[in-house]
Amino acid sequence: MHQFNLVLLGPPGAGKGTQAGRIVAEYGIPHISTGDILRAAVKNQTALGLEAKKYMDAGELVPDSVVIGIVKDRLQESDTQRGFLMDGFPRTIPQAEALDEALQGLGRAITKVIVLLVDEEILVKRLTGRRICRSCQTPYHVMFTPPEQEGVCDKCGGELYQRDDDTEATVRNRLAVYRKQTEPLIEYYDRSGVVVRIDGAQEAEKVFEDIREALGPA
Ligand code: ADP
Ligand code: AMP
Repeated sequence: MHQFNLVLLGPPGAGKGTQAGRIVAEYGIPHISTGDILRAAVKNQTALGLEAKKYMDAGELVPDSVVIGIVKDRLQESDTQRGFLMDGFPRTIPQAEALDEALQGLGRAITKVIVLLVDEEILVKRLTGRRICRSCQTPYHVMFTPPEQEGVCDKCGGELYQRDDDTEATVRNRLAVYRKQTEPLIEYYDRSGVVVRIDGAQEAEKVFEDIREALGPA
């Protein structure tokens, strides 16, 4: 069976969450967002959440051992048989190596890495105006992609909120962390020929069309 073992890569604000919703609906694979998993842990005040919060608030990465453990557990669940969409993971070379190793153990490998490219000044505008649904995590933007009714999710009626780390100072640090620790992953995956580069500055619907063209039929 053809598998869709996908990684969505790109700086904070590139549109990963926005495109993830569309991709998982089209391809019928689960959306695995380490950011969403960590925010849920923070909200529920679990031991994981308490540890992760200090890194997240500073715009730093949570330690590799912690996020690698989360993803390995998640990959054991049966809904990942046909594939998955990783969003916000891996973010470091050790995370990418651990993912390759875990997949190898399951007789699988990454089939495509979709890289969303967007200029830094656009990213800052996108992140500082972002609002997220508390229930289904769908991202909106106060100017670029506003919901029909202010503060309310179009999809599920949930309440929209602003993430604690979407302030300008934290955003700048997150972008610096991306350049230093995550961008080298593009070269890492280029070596296995699985990278597709997409212009993420286009309108969201056009970005999705390009992704669908690169991935082929479901
Ligand atoms: P990421 O998951 O990569 O951090 P998001 O998908 O949350 O990024 O998008 C960041 C912000 O930019 C959100 O407010 C979202 O509504 C907005 N956005 C996403 N894609 C586009 C686009 N193609 N054009 C304009 N705004 C966008
Ligand atoms: P995101 O929702 O992907 O923007 O992630 C929000 C924050 O969660 C990041 O700034 C990190 O602090 C943390 N985080 C999410 N995914 C990872 C990861 N793969 N490795 C380390 N930290 C992560």
